[in-house]
Amino acid sequence: MSDSGPVTREERALPPGLLLPLSTIGSFPKPERLKQARAEFTRGRLDASSLRRIEEEETTACIRLQENLGLDLLVDGEMYRGDMTAYFAENLEGFRISGLVRSYGNRYYRKPVVVGAVRWSRPITVEWFRFALGQTARPVKAILTGPYTMMDWAFDEHYGSRESLALALADVVRQEAEALVAAGARHVQIDEPAISVRPGEIDLAIRAMHRVTDGLRARTITHICYGDFPAIYPRLLDLPVEQFTLELSNSDLGLLELFGTSPFTKELGAGVLDVHSHTIEPVELVKERILAALRVVPASRLYVNPDCGLKTRSPEEAEAKLRNMVAATREVRRTL
Ligand SMILES: [Zn+2]
Repeated sequence: MSDSGPVTREERALPPGLLLPLSTIGSFPKPERLKQARAEFTRGRLDASSLRRIEEEETTACIRLQENLGLDLLVDGEMYRGDMTAYFAENLEGFRISGLVRSYGNRYYRKPVVVGAVRWSRPITVEWFRFALGQTARPVKAILTGPYTMMDWAFDEHYGSRESLALALADVVRQEAEALVAAGARHVQIDEPAISVRPGEIDLAIRAMHRVTDGLRARTITHICYGDFPAIYPRLLDLPVEQFTLELSNSDLGLLELFGTSPFTKELGAGVLDVHSHTIEPVELVKERILAALRVVPASRLYVNPDCGLKTRSPEEAEAKLRNMVAATREVRRTL
């Protein structure tokens, strides 16, 4: 992997005065060719460097796509990641990965098991972050899985306390975040989809996030999927991040009504594409969603993005949805 060379922080800021910056949550669909290569690798029929080359080519293609669509804050697309918790667990000390576990229906996944003290021994995502940065002149958002979610989705055989494990994981996520900032990341998103599922532990999630973001020299963002928001709002706003990227469209913009009960004080990355639906939302509908978000959050604090990661959509669906999101945002920008 080639080194992209020194990158100054100033070079990678969003254009000054840009309203409604366009971004995504993190994952893009994996092309068929990459899925096949990963399967061949698992069967021992493809070597690691060949798989790596394909992952690099698809990462570059994903960056090109985002540029061509007109997105402002890019992501690396996560071509090299499988599951969002297992990927980090595989690269940290203290974890082993279980055999296949059945979740709902016929879905199987590998669950991370904590078998010792969790430790960060080397950067996990930094090389890929630098690679992505080397493919574009635009800023790239770094994406990490948050400590609360890592804890909630792992099976603990060592700490015996959800709190101890979450705080230990917060320390390792902090180390990774620091390494990303040193590599030029100005936007760091710490995904915490599990928060909205267990409202009773919101205080622990907030404590853990403090360990990750306090004093971190980057714009901090968290992504939380739809869940029991009424139970954690407005306490949720005490999460120490500057921006929330939230699923709005899948809930028919119900969250925006909730923000009417107590002002939403952060930047909002408004989810204006339902990633669970095959439907390509027309530009007019996406525009309505952006305008609805603008009635709750001023333009100076609004970003535009899909509800969630795009990995469950086909490459064609993801591209068509994003195309309409960009067109709708440009139309709204002209009215501001
Ligand atoms: Zn999500």
